[in-house]
Amino acid sequence: MSFRIGNGFDIHRFSDDVSRPLVLGGVTIADETGLHGHSDADVIAHAVAEALLGAAGLHDIGTLFPATAERWRGAASMPQLAACVAMARDAGWEAVNIDCSVIAERPKLAPHKSAMQAGLSRVVGAPVTVKGRRAEGIGGLGRAEGIACTASALLVAIESGR
Ligand code: MG
Repeated sequence: MSFRIGNGFDIHRFSDDVSRPLVLGGVTIADETGLHGHSDADVIAHAVAEALLGAAGLHDIGTLFPATAERWRGAASMPQLAACVAMARDAGWEAVNIDCSVIAERPKLAPHKSAMQAGLSRVVGAPVTVKGRRAEGIGGLGRAEGIACTASALLVAIESGR
């Protein structure tokens, strides 16, 4: 069997617009200020997409969905992730699993973790796990200026007959 691994990273700062919704892993979290970004700024979906695309040897999401393009303003990231899954599949690769670490002082991820994992796993077509970590007060993430996420993806070649 032929396998590939990929890693993804994304980071967004909190928006100054307190009415902006916070979307993480496709889940909208009530009563929390959203992240600044051209799209919905879903750092988890973005890191997952980057890991998947990287493993498949494809372009990064900044190239595929440029922040300069008006059509992607306010775009939901989960359909973009679905498009990345399809592109990886077209390139001959499907996910075995993807694991994410979210670095955030707030909000607490635990109440939303299973919804995030279920939604991400559905879109990716393989188990996606999400873990929350605090930045222990270190740097901008520790001052709760934003949220970062890393993701590792394992892909298998579709023609390997898994
Ligand atoms: Mg991003």
